[in-house]
Amino acid sequence: MKTNPKHHPFGPSTMRRRELCPASLRLEDGLPALPAGPDAERGTRIHALVAKWIEAKKAPEPETEEEELALKCFQYWRRETAIEGSVIDAPEQRLSYCVVAGQPETELYFGTCDYVGAFLINGKLCGLIIDWKTGYSEIDPAPDNIQGAAYALAAFQTYKLDRCEVHFYNPTLNRASSHVFTDADALAEHIMRVHNLCLAPDTPPVPGEDQCRYCKAFQQAACPAVKKKLEVIAETASTLEGVISILPDEKLVEFFEKAKLVAKLEGVAEAEIKRRCEDSGVCAGYRIKETSGGFEITDIPKAFELADGLDEARFLGCCKLSESQLKKAWAKAQVNGGEYKTLKEAEFAFASVFGGLRCPKPPKRTLVKEDTKALN
Ligand code: SF4
Repeated sequence: MKTNPKHHPFGPSTMRRRELCPASLRLEDGLPALPAGPDAERGTRIHALVAKWIEAKKAPEPETEEEELALKCFQYWRRETAIEGSVIDAPEQRLSYCVVAGQPETELYFGTCDYVGAFLINGKLCGLIIDWKTGYSEIDPAPDNIQGAAYALAAFQTYKLDRCEVHFYNPTLNRASSHVFTDADALAEHIMRVHNLCLAPDTPPVPGEDQCRYCKAFQQAACPAVKKKLEVIAETASTLEGVISILPDEKLVEFFEKAKLVAKLEGVAEAEIKRRCEDSGVCAGYRIKETSGGFEITDIPKAFELADGLDEARFLGCCKLSESQLKKAWAKAQVNGGEYKTLKEAEFAFASVFGGLRCPKPPKRTLVKEDTKALN
């Protein structure tokens, strides 16, 4: 098994995949990492900002959406660490767990945790781990989250903690989840069980949305289980379409989860075909056809000047307003004009000044899956 200095194949960030599909360790081995997508790059930038601000113990007024999200993380960190008795205070901390404490040659995994703190409270050393999530999917609740458990276990061993509190916070969804781990032995037992399953040479792959989503074997179509499912679904797709409305709940959900996998694989395959067409013009009969993307007018003041015969109201009726841009511009103008001291205060006031004009958008209705299994 090859490792590199940044990521361990059995590290905390991949451990959920190993837990749900132990064969993924074997099937991903040796596959190259694909380039990070825009969401991953955005996440990296937000993480870097938060780490920098925690290091400096202060954050500037945010000017971009990413800075706003980073500020929410910074404020979360500040709230959670407002305790006397800090003995460890470390953003972006590498944590490692060895099967035999103190013997680095028995290292089972390592990973970089977004923040590690520890506080002496009533004579007990209490660890605090925070992990930022910046994506658009719900976070696994902390009590069931093996990534947090793996960080906690490494922190228990490294700092000889009495207890360890693990937090996940997602500023994009404004969701947080936390759990206090107290039994390092139970965590070690569970993680060792997962690791042993991963090492068994005949463990079959277990496809599922959670584990396959970022699996290299899935992204590179190297997983036999996914290929097989794909073939079966492709062969029976037209029959299945007709019976969806009469499937019982369990079957409907099973079908939904498998169909999502196929849909994702289609996206991955399409991106790869496009990439090959861009490289060599054609890919097994497919080629890229470029069509006009239409036009947009970005210079609105100039367009107004030219729009003879249209009064202001009719012209504005053709424009679309971005609430977040208006909020930022208005807040900046208020601060520059001396009405408010900070952008935050001005943005807060925005809601009351423009409140009567704000119309709620229809609520977002997303499906989330319940997970009731607890680790400890
Ligand atoms: S693609 Fe899915 S089923 Fe296959 S190895 Fe990866 S996680 Fe397991």
